[in-house]
Amino acid sequence: MSTKRGYILVLSSPSGAGKSTLARQLLADTTLPTPHLSVSVTTRSRRPSEIDGTHYHFIDEMAFLQRRDQGALLEWAEVHGNFYGTPREPVERALAQGKIMLLDIDWQGTEQVRSAMPEDTVSVFILPPSFEELRARIVRRAEDTPDVIERRLENAREEMKHWRDYDYVITNTDLEDAYAELRGIYLAETVRRSRQPNLEAFVDELSAS
Ligand code: ADP
Ligand code: 5GP
Repeated sequence: MSTKRGYILVLSSPSGAGKSTLARQLLADTTLPTPHLSVSVTTRSRRPSEIDGTHYHFIDEMAFLQRRDQGALLEWAEVHGNFYGTPREPVERALAQGKIMLLDIDWQGTEQVRSAMPEDTVSVFILPPSFEELRARIVRRAEDTPDVIERRLENAREEMKHWRDYDYVITNTDLEDAYAELRGIYLAETVRRSRQPNLEAFVDELSAS
């Protein structure tokens, strides 16, 4: 039998395109090896539906800068005027255990993770079917004030410019179709040759028997 190495699955999209929804589906899919979700630290205020420690670790700017300066963050970025960062230790621990780590981060963070761990990073960009639909989804989500929504839409144009930097691009028109595509990527990446380090010995053994 071959033992597989884990990897980091990075999901990015303009806000509202559906990456949290798709990430939740992956986490709930009992037919897959369950990924570990990275819980970021952020200085943004908590939305009514969010739970501290589950959706984010909500911390103040001083605590954030302290963690960043201690090297405790694998990557960090300023997004929509707030700081966000990925705690390094859980990612390194999961990879050492052969687990898949799921990161919902922006393009700036993706760039940092990719340069730090190029062999271990798989990146997926989620696009909305149209700008109107993106706006409608953010409004329907009803979690942001009108000025925050406008800021997110302005940033969406900036975020979307970075689609070329990603390994895979999914247009989330129909949620079921988009999830099927994400699931396919997720599974295929578990059997990438480079993630099966003892294949050599396994095949030698197969050939010798
Ligand atoms: P993101 O995490 O990218 O900001 P969310 O996952 O929160 O986006 O999705 C934004 C809103 O759009 C949510 O209310 C979600 O239920 C909805 N949504 C996601 N995908 C689809 C889809 N394919 N069709 C319609 N609504 C969707
Ligand atoms: P939201 O405020 O909607 O939860 O997230 C806003 C944006 O910040 C999203 O694009 C999300 O992917 C990104 N984000 C969330 N956590 C992190 C993180 O730890 N690092 C980086 N670079 N971006 C993050």
